[in-house]
Amino acid sequence: MQHCPICRKEVEKLTELYICEDCAKEQILFQQKWEGKAFKEDVERDPTDAYFKRAFAYMEKGDFNRAIMDFSELIKLNPNETEAFSNRGMAYHNKGDFSHAVEDFSELIKLNPDEADAYYNRGAAYYEIGDFDHAVDDFAEVIRLTPDDVDGYFHRGLSYRKTGQFDLAIGDFTEVIKIDPSYIHAYFIRGLTYKERGDSDQAAVDFNEVLKLDPNHGPTKEALAGLK
Ligand SMILES: [Zn+2]
Repeated sequence: MQHCPICRKEVEKLTELYICEDCAKEQILFQQKWEGKAFKEDVERDPTDAYFKRAFAYMEKGDFNRAIMDFSELIKLNPNETEAFSNRGMAYHNKGDFSHAVEDFSELIKLNPDEADAYYNRGAAYYEIGDFDHAVDDFAEVIRLTPDDVDGYFHRGLSYRKTGQFDLAIGDFTEVIKIDPSYIHAYFIRGLTYKERGDSDQAAVDFNEVLKLDPNHGPTKEALAGLK
């Protein structure tokens, strides 16, 4: 028995493409649809529409390199194509190329300086790179643009925590809990941050709050046991 590398199914024999028969059929259909004559005709008719559709099909398939090539075509067609920058940035992020993700979200911010998602996504890429100071700045913009939303506070809190600024982190997690008292993860991470600051009593209060909301939260049980 062999495993298909795409669907993980066990099959007796893999095809010449080293994938199972079902995946091979799908692959051939995909190529006929997106890489054959029909696609060329679509491009001639409406290049923006054709490349967007194919880029999203590649994204869905997890083929980020080809998606990036199509988004780049779109940017060539229209250098102000915000959707192409935004999605190419996501494609770079998904393939782990966070520096290029930062570049694309920066372009997007130049074109759309009030789009919270652009700052959020660039902040997330900075966070992955380990550039927590820039991540803090971007999540602060998210907070400025969407102050009633937990995402900016939560992720700025995580970034502060990474730089050892525990009081600021705790302040942000507290804001999250004010906005959404059922946000379990905020209690959990605030508890961990209290613990890191050496404040076991406050940590225990937060961990117990998590267990009130979710009595089976394993990591919290472990963390609570670790306090004693
Ligand atoms: Zn398969």
